[in-house]
Formats: sequence, structure tokens, C-alpha cells
Amino acid sequence: MAAPIPYLDLKSLQGRFLQQDLDVMQHLHDSGTYIGGDMVTRFENEFAAYCGVQHCIGVANGLEALEIILRADVELGVLTKAARILVPAHTYIATFLSITNAGCIPVPVDVDELLLTADKIKNQLDNIHGVIAVDIYGKLVDDEVYAFLPDRQAGAKAKKIPIYTDAAQAHGARTDQGMRSGSRGRASAFSFYPTKNLGALGDAGAIVTDDEELGSMCRKIANYGRESRYVNDVLGVNSRLDPLQAGFLSNRLPLLDQDNARRREIAETYISSIKHEKIQVPNSLWIEHNAHHVFPIYSDDRGRLVQHMDAAGIGTNFHYKIPPHHQEVYPEFNAFNFPVTERLHKTQLSIPCHPLLSDQEVQRVIDTVNSFE
Ligand SMILES: *Cc1c(COP(=O)(O)O)cnc(C)c1O
Repeated sequence: MAAPIPYLDLKSLQGRFLQQDLDVMQHLHDSGTYIGGDMVTRFENEFAAYCGVQHCIGVANGLEALEIILRADVELGVLTKAARILVPAHTYIATFLSITNAGCIPVPVDVDELLLTADKIKNQLDNIHGVIAVDIYGKLVDDEVYAFLPDRQAGAKAKKIPIYTDAAQAHGARTDQGMRSGSRGRASAFSFYPTKNLGALGDAGAIVTDDEELGSMCRKIANYGRESRYVNDVLGVNSRLDPLQAGFLSNRLPLLDQDNARRREIAETYISSIKHEKIQVPNSLWIEHNAHHVFPIYSDDRGRLVQHMDAAGIGTNFHYKIPPHHQEVYPEFNAFNFPVTERLHKTQLSIPCHPLLSDQEVQRVIDTVNSFE
């Protein structure tokens, strides 16, 4: 049998940077600075410039990036304590947890096909104080969603609310106007978990924003709520971007666009070549504004399809299986009924879509899917 095709060949993806990463380790030793330091500042500047925003604050992971943004806006009075934050039901549970961890209240809504839409926000405007939009699978939510933002307000009458982005799956995705994921909301959170499109060799995350006051408050909260070395004036956390991880990320950032372009090529090939009456693939619009973190296919016979892929040595994944509102940790939402989200969690299957797949491997994935009986 041909060699297996893992869902994600992380070791090879990360292995491309071994020599550069060893230099980072040497640099850390030479510098004698093990917390903060020039590698953190350098990556923050590079990533802010890449996203097209003013400020980047490195933090320990993506969950805390989101949580700190919300805490900061509560501190600044932009959000009230226990603010009600609209969140798409189709997301990773981290989005929900960031809201509850920050002392706010999730207001879950169903998605339209896959993503949050402006209509879903409009229906809840009197019931919410903020929104977290999620660029799930790497696909950008529509620009319209950000029309409710205070400073980009089109209609004077519409209510103005802060909109944040969970950009943890969408590093580098771009709109037609060239706006990157994470640059459109009041602030955005990134995760650099090793499997993300821009992934470190451990946990890492970042907050990006154009708002200087919010950026400073996030930095303060991430650093024990310190005003200065010995003065603490807000309740903070310890959530730092490790300098080693920052150095590793600086090594990887220059390759992100190229990697995403290869992911896109693979996605295009899947869309044009997977043809099966029991399996749905996204339509051609899928290609636009997408970092292709996940390539989803859908089948009512998902369980058997996974077995079929397994038998051919092809790795797959679910994104996801149980939506946050059906998790035991959120009993208050368990009775909610979000048909689109629930269907996604029953039928969705992620197939390999990483930048090191060869054309031959892509073809094998296609042939295997198409030969499902
Ligand atoms: C990965 C991910 C996160 C959390 O990132 P961590 O770094 O693991 O904390 C949050 N939201 C989404 C949508 C993610 O995919």
C-alpha cells in the first residue's frame, strides 16, 4: 500500500525551520534576557505590519488573547461587567470560554452556512453589548459584519457595538481590499498553536488592534495589571509571549503567504475534482478571502467515510463533533437549537490541506474520496 497521508504533517512543516530555530536559541543564550526582550518586540512589530494594524501584543496563547481583549474593554468601560457578547455557535469552544472567563455572557447564534452574518447581529442588537466574529476554517466573515463598528458606522441610527475577531484560524486571509484577517475589528486574537497556519513550537498567541488605549490596556492586563514595576491598578494575568516562540514565529512569518497560496491551490483542485453524490464540497466562492486552514467536505454518511479514508491511509479530522452549546460545561445553552451548526457538526469532515502535500498526494486524496461506496 502507498505511504499514509497524515491529516497534517506537522513534523515536516516545522522541520523546514530547524537551522533558523537553532540560531534563535543561540540568540536567546547570548542575550541573557529570557522574558520579553528584542525577539518579542521584533515579532510584534513584524506581525502588526503584516496584518496592517498599529499594535501587536504578544501573549501566551489564543484563548488568553481573546480573554484579555474582553477584560481590557471592561476595564476601559467600552463593555460593562457581565456584558452580553454575541458569538457564532459554530466555533471552537475557546471562543465561548474567553467570554465566560472574562466574566461576560455568551449570546450564541446560529451561523448562515458556515459563518456569522450581519443579519444575525441585527436581530440581536438590543440584546448584546459586543460581538466576536470568527473566521472559521480560515474563511473571512463578510465585511458587512463589521459595519456595526463605532468608527466605521455607515447609518447613524444603527446601534454601535464593538466587534472583535477570533482570527485563530485565518492568519493571512485577505479581503478584496487587501485587509487581512484581524485588521477589521476593534481588536483581534490570534493563536500560534503549532497546527495553525502560522504555528510556533509550543503555545503562543497575539492581540492586534489599531486602538492605542486598548492595546496598552491589553499589554497591562497580560502583565499582572502592572502600571509600573511595583504598582498594580487592574486585575491582571500572566500571559506572555515566550521569546523563543517569538523568534520561531519570526522565522516562519516570511513563508506564510507562500504556504497559504499552496493551500489555496490544493483547495481549488479539491473543489474541481471531488465529485460524489453522497459528498458535498464547498462551491467556488470558497477560494476567496480564505487562509484554508481547514478544507471541509460534508456527508450524511460521515462515519463510514472516515473508515474508508482510514483504510486508504488518509488522515482526516472533525471540526468539530459537539458544538459548544451542547457541551456539558454550558448547561444553560444545551436546549438551544441551531440547525445549521448542528448539521455541520454531524456531517463535516476535514481532509488534508497542508502546504507540503504533493500533487500526487492531493490526487490520491481525491481518488479515495471519489471511490467511497
Ligand atoms: C486554536 C483556536 C483558539 C485557541 O487558541 P489556543 O492558542 O489553543 O488557546 C481559539 N479559537 C479558535 C477558532 C481556534 O481555532
